[in-house]
Amino acid sequence: MLELRDVTKTYNGRRVLDRVSFSVSRGETVCLLGPSGSGKSTTLRLIAGLEEPDEGDVLWQGKSLLGVPPHERRFGLMFQDYALFPHMNVWENVAFGLRMQGMSKEEIERHVREALERVNMLEFARRRVTDLSGGEQQRVALARTLAPWPRLLMLDEPLGSLDRALRERLLEDLRHILAEEDIPAIYVTHDQEEAFAIADRIVLLHEGRVVQQGTPEEVYQRPATPWVAQFFGLTNLLSGRVVGLSPLRVMTGEGVFQPACDGSRWEIGEAVIILLRPRGATLVTDAVERPNMVRGRVVDTVFLGDMYRVAVLTKGGHTFKFEIPQALKRGEDVVLRVADERIQCFSPP
Ligand code: ADP
Repeated sequence: MLELRDVTKTYNGRRVLDRVSFSVSRGETVCLLGPSGSGKSTTLRLIAGLEEPDEGDVLWQGKSLLGVPPHERRFGLMFQDYALFPHMNVWENVAFGLRMQGMSKEEIERHVREALERVNMLEFARRRVTDLSGGEQQRVALARTLAPWPRLLMLDEPLGSLDRALRERLLEDLRHILAEEDIPAIYVTHDQEEAFAIADRIVLLHEGRVVQQGTPEEVYQRPATPWVAQFFGLTNLLSGRVVGLSPLRVMTGEGVFQPACDGSRWEIGEAVIILLRPRGATLVTDAVERPNMVRGRVVDTVFLGDMYRVAVLTKGGHTFKFEIPQALKRGEDVVLRVADERIQCFSPP
């Protein structure tokens, strides 16, 4: 339905979006995920038509939207600060924008009723918005965005300012509402948990570039770069050099590692970065020398419920974190072995 093709945007000589391309299909929720300043809001503004790209194109069903003013795009935008009108009731809040568009009374009636039904708020229609909980207000704001029957829904950090418990509940609500909607949606957030909960597909932005796209499982299980791994909290990264290709073997300051990656992508002597995933390490009790060993001292251990997260400080000065079933004592010297398939190999940035 929506497609961005090589969209580039420069402010004061600084490129804030660099050939951004992605698309959103019918009924799909795409999350634009990235740290603050990565270009998420700029991307939304370009889609909304509040800004025009310097290069590239924004298309709706194959037709360029360049030059089409925002109101003619019929895209609904819900901001983080969705400020409802406190002196109006729920119904009036949702109807307000439709009235401004000059819709007839009957049409307004139909749109408001339907929008409130979609977010399960019809029975609250006559309530003052100031008497509603944060979650209910959120749903009214969503109804207000849905009421004009937009062709595309854009949500910019909609849970941004709420406390954690409320966020979790609303996230569940939003997920159900978006899953039922046939409208394509773009959801902007810097929070990976939110993105994992909401997204059919994630578009990951870093410094104005799309660094990876895929389902939440794909991006988390197969990060494309060390930066992506780190963004998802996978911080056991280690640099080394390729010393064998079949199987791939990497010499590092901590010993030899054997990632379960295709060796034909690499060359002997090439510099690489490997990632040791935190799950799937086992405690070694014998003295047999093998690849994939991490030796060090336990410097921290946290009970996670079904696992323990241990931090191991190696002789090489790395602190690696693993999630293992055993409780280890702080100060204990340990040897852990990481399974081949829990090690990934990247080219350095
Ligand atoms: P995000 O939404 O991911 O936090 P933004 O799209 O808001 O990122 O911003 C991306 C970069 O573009 C930032 O460095 C920001 O300072 C810059 N930027 C955004 N809007 C403008 C503007 N109107 N003028 C100049 N710089 C801008």
